Amino acid sequence: MESAKYSIVIPLYNEEGIIPLLVGRLQEIMAKMDGPAEVVMVDDGSTDRTYQLAQAASDSDPRFKLIQFSRNFGHQVAITAGMDATSGDAVIIMDADLQDPPYVVLQMIEKWQQGYEVVYGRRQHREGERLFKTATASAFYNLLHRIADVETPIDVGDFRLVDRKALNAFLQMRENNRYVRGMFSWVGFRQAAVPYTREERAVGTTHYTMRKMVKLASNGILGFSSAPLRLALGMGVFLAFASVIYGIVAISMKLAGVDLVPGYASLLFAITFLSGIQLAVMGMVGLYVGRIYDEARARPLYIVRESYGFGAGDDRAVW
Ligand code: UDP
Ligand code: MG
Repeated sequence: MESAKYSIVIPLYNEEGIIPLLVGRLQEIMAKMDGPAEVVMVDDGSTDRTYQLAQAASDSDPRFKLIQFSRNFGHQVAITAGMDATSGDAVIIMDADLQDPPYVVLQMIEKWQQGYEVVYGRRQHREGERLFKTATASAFYNLLHRIADVETPIDVGDFRLVDRKALNAFLQMRENNRYVRGMFSWVGFRQAAVPYTREERAVGTTHYTMRKMVKLASNGILGFSSAPLRLALGMGVFLAFASVIYGIVAISMKLAGVDLVPGYASLLFAITFLSGIQLAVMGMVGLYVGRIYDEARARPLYIVRESYGFGAGDDRAVW
């Protein structure tokens, strides 16, 4: 088979309902591309018939390839595994649920042909998502934009096209706690945005639970900013100053002969307040220590149970 010019990476987690529709839409879009294309689907430990349906798609159209994880490793790891397995000159990352409209890919390709190496989709509107999600997402992107060490664009998810050069740089980063969109900001290269409307999910409901969303957000903040540590330091310095001033005041009052009534309330307040701050600061430092521990173990990012449709070397137990 001709080697692919375009590779499309699709993470799948319990998406059995969407696969036939998704495959059709991808085939339509691939027909409009100016070179051979492949699709790398990553089954992120689905418990429904996602894998079987994806295998069937691969059987009927050999451009569709498939990796199955040994368990659920999460969306960010799934797209990384997909990117590991691509061979195209330009690699496109897209959600399975058609919230990222396929036709936008053609606009991304145009930008790529103009010489941009990372072309990301910027969400202009979001259809059918709860106010809570859009509000928290917007607050998060604005906060990260302010405190991150690299320039992170606002309202940009993982829907993007990346050139092989930028991809190779990205793939060298094997950190376990991943925030892929930030890592693509970090690698640099010539970047451009394509605005689009984020559609409603075509089938089913979101698989991004509250817990997964919090994990993603903390990976973004802890991985791309040391602002929390600076905040902790700032609080410590401020409190140290305040207590010195309080001490000076107390001593001067004593020397001036003012009768100091032993203040039970202020003592109690100082103790509880300070221990609260101490615990918060320790917790904050702990978050970073936890990440160091994760990275120090240097475990593989993911375990592949089976790969399918890649030709020779399929069904390797270890990727
Ligand atoms: N997904 C995944 N692993 C997970 C959760 C989600 O691979 O643990 C995939 C999912 O199948 C979809 C994409 O990631 O293709 C985005 O997930 P979803 O649509 O549920 O998130 P949302 O669009 O609501 O943020
Ligand atoms: Mg979605």
